[in-house]
Amino acid sequence: MEQKDIVIIGAGLTGLTTAFYLNKAGADFKVLDLLDRPGGVIHSMQENDFNYEEGPNTGVVGTAEVFDLFEDLKGLCELEVANDAVNKRYILKNGKWEKLPSGLKEGIKTPLFTLKDKFRILGEPFRRKGTNPHETLAELVKRRMGQSFLDYAIDPFILGVYAGDPNYLVPKYALPKLWNLEQDFGSFIGGSIKKSFQKKDEQSKKVTRKVFSAKNGLSSLTNALYQASKPENFDLGVKNIQINHENGLYIITGQNGDKQIEIAAKKVITATGAYALDKILPFIPANEMNKMTNLTYAKVIEVTLGFKTWKGRPLDGFGGLIPFKENRDVLGYLFLSAFLSDKAPKEGALLTIFMGGVRKAELTYLSDDKIREMVEKETTDLMDLSEFKPDLFKLTRYNHAIPQYGADSGIRFDTIDKIQMDFPGLLIGGNLRGGIGMADRIKQGKELADQLLKTNI
Ligand SMILES: Cc1cc2nc3c(=O)[nH]c(=O)nc-3n(C[C@H](O)[C@H](O)[C@H](O)COP(=O)(O)OP(=O)(O)OC[C@H]3O[C@@H](n4cnc5c(N)ncnc54)[C@H](O)[C@@H]3O)c2cc1C
Repeated sequence: MEQKDIVIIGAGLTGLTTAFYLNKAGADFKVLDLLDRPGGVIHSMQENDFNYEEGPNTGVVGTAEVFDLFEDLKGLCELEVANDAVNKRYILKNGKWEKLPSGLKEGIKTPLFTLKDKFRILGEPFRRKGTNPHETLAELVKRRMGQSFLDYAIDPFILGVYAGDPNYLVPKYALPKLWNLEQDFGSFIGGSIKKSFQKKDEQSKKVTRKVFSAKNGLSSLTNALYQASKPENFDLGVKNIQINHENGLYIITGQNGDKQIEIAAKKVITATGAYALDKILPFIPANEMNKMTNLTYAKVIEVTLGFKTWKGRPLDGFGGLIPFKENRDVLGYLFLSAFLSDKAPKEGALLTIFMGGVRKAELTYLSDDKIREMVEKETTDLMDLSEFKPDLFKLTRYNHAIPQYGADSGIRFDTIDKIQMDFPGLLIGGNLRGGIGMADRIKQGKELADQLLKTNI
């Protein structure tokens, strides 16, 4: 049986970041994954003069760890920051794209919000702060800002980030920065202003709202992490991975083709989604396991369209989001070639569309042909095309795209803490807690490595 200090299950961005920092510290570790390539949902592709992503397209430099990671990977992978076009965002209202206001003047003029709510927002800093930690995002926004802000700002934003439902997500867990603004300062507006005047330490200065990708696609980030963590430390394409706990050690078994994997390790970390845990950790009591695996994931279809010559509406921004109220078949468009380099030929365009999500999950069961038909109808209308003849049409389905942090999240987080106390050396990572975006995953991956290196077993 192979002996290792640490075994990581999952070679997505979380597991790879942990592996990278373990390797940097000279630790003895191995990474196992079901897929035969590193990166998890991150998968950059090149075809027919287009560079596109099958999974996430861009992240936000929302944690200092993103900045630090790209610094640590200098020479192996290059950060690409989106150009200024990214600051212009559109929201669909009554079938027409309206610019999301970016300042007071635009805010007064915008048709997105009602006059009543525009006046109401003036009173936001004076409204009492909420006391219910399980208040939903919809309740919180209606209480502080009004229905039209919920419908035409927060709802499309939540569709874009979570493919989720503001009536289910609980800000304390799903949007902790927003939740803390109200809890710490009593107001979103007042809190944001006060925060902007607070003195920042070196780490907080690295946190920005900049939108990032990596030169040549996000796979160049995950491939750089893989190479730097040494491919010999990885076993990819391993089926039926199972961990058992025997005499204080973790015995990890699995099957890679004809090869039977058997490793004894002092510490193990899971960096998969919640949905995989019951098979991987059979020794966890069922009542505790259920509190982790009952996490809802949004099902999503991602469609990428490439046009060698673009003849539709100007693609002058980050993209357009579509509020649920508009009742369309797509959640929104990303105008990728408008703000990232080398995505499409010079006169062309690369767009990504998301469909499904928590409130339109039924669409994700439709056939590829039916989806194509819907994309054609929506895109011809919404992008002002006279005909729909893309040079690239790619469709990817995700059954477990984005976890939804609802009111049961607190119980889940407490359960994870309890399991980790009961089984020293076991760490449960991955997107079941700690945030859903790439910046959160990098932060968690680094924290897990730090924790593993600190724990003496
Ligand atoms: C369609 C889509 C679009 C997204 N868009 C964005 C975006 O624009 N911006 C952003 O910041 N974030 C986005 N995200 C979220 C972001 O991609 C993720 O937070 C991040 O990439 C997840 O990394 P991870 O390592 O935690 O999980 P994953 O990438 O899911 O990796 C988990 C790994 O575990 C492995 N695994 C699973 N089960 C087993 C098993 N039984 N045995 C062994 N291995 C197993 C998987 O094969 C996988 O490699 C998006 C996600 C999706 C799905």
